[in-house]
Amino acid sequence: MAGTGEAHLLVDAEGTVLSVRHLQVEYRTPGGVVHAVSDVSFDVRPGETLGLVGESGCGKSTTGKAVLRLEKLAGGQVVYRGQDLASAKRGTLRPLRRKLQMIFQDPVSSLNPRRSVRELVVEGLTIAGRPAAERREAADRVLADVGLDPERFGPLRPRQLSGGQAQRVAIARALAIRPDLIVCDEPVSALDVSVQAQIVNLLHDLKDEHALTLVFISHDLSVVRSVCDRVMVMYLGRICEVGDVDSVFAAPAHPYTRALLDSVPRRRAAGGFPGPALEGDIPSPLDPPSGCRFRTRCPLATERCAVEVPEVRAVGDGHFAACHHADAPADLGRVPVSV
Ligand code: ADP
Ligand code: MG
Repeated sequence: MAGTGEAHLLVDAEGTVLSVRHLQVEYRTPGGVVHAVSDVSFDVRPGETLGLVGESGCGKSTTGKAVLRLEKLAGGQVVYRGQDLASAKRGTLRPLRRKLQMIFQDPVSSLNPRRSVRELVVEGLTIAGRPAAERREAADRVLADVGLDPERFGPLRPRQLSGGQAQRVAIARALAIRPDLIVCDEPVSALDVSVQAQIVNLLHDLKDEHALTLVFISHDLSVVRSVCDRVMVMYLGRICEVGDVDSVFAAPAHPYTRALLDSVPRRRAAGGFPGPALEGDIPSPLDPPSGCRFRTRCPLATERCAVEVPEVRAVGDGHFAACHHADAPADLGRVPVSV
């Protein structure tokens, strides 16, 4: 490991599905350069569900798309099962990319409106290289897997479906391609509350049946808590905190995580964590604050926070945070553990 900044990265015998190092994504706009993702490093372990949380605009979707190479990288490495996607040529990238699928927030617009449900899934099977003779039957099996009766739904077009049904089709299509990892970008945010849990549970069940690894982007902390193994908190393009869901929710180490958790009404009613609720807006990513990007909204900010970017450091077992104050036991009520 090179320096303490890498301390949160997993190095173990089983390897990782995805290792992201120093990921950087910038958008050039008429107003200047948007620093959407800056020096983000993390690993995704085989079979886990990694949650990615943070306020709107903090770079979650950009991170999700960039690791699948759906967004141009300004820097960094994305290593999928030992192969660097960031530098891969098109011919090498194509078969690898199939292994990495994405499910979006708005299922209806993510599906080709001219194809029937069955055709959409058959397309996925074609991409996966399944023989033509098997595709129709296999498509119907995948549809049944996601809880859609193939006879009834197979002939329909996306616009004839409810949001929840369309999201099931998007999941079926992604599954048909036989992915290894799926990035789910707010997969239930656009759905009625009554169907959100059904889709979340479906993803959870399919994960085990199909030996999938999931990156689950959400702004709903209670959903993340219920389905994720680990969670990574982002703020203004950088990682604040990462760790097992239990540790992060029980003892959040970063003031931003504490503020996020405090903004959950139930949590606030129960007394919450020390520190004020999150106020004000996220600063512009065109000109992010120097040092710690959270410092302009942080109750603990000192001069050091303005000049020194905090490294991601261990604050507990498998629990890491990027805050100059994060290892102060008085703040946390717990003793830091070094790696
Ligand atoms: P999140 O998913 O966490 O809401 P995003 O990754 O969508 O955040 O966006 C991160 C930042 O990048 C935001 O400031 C957003 O406005 C900006 N951004 C995203 N896509 C583009 C784009 N295509 N062009 C310019 N800026 C963009
Ligand atoms: Mg987003």
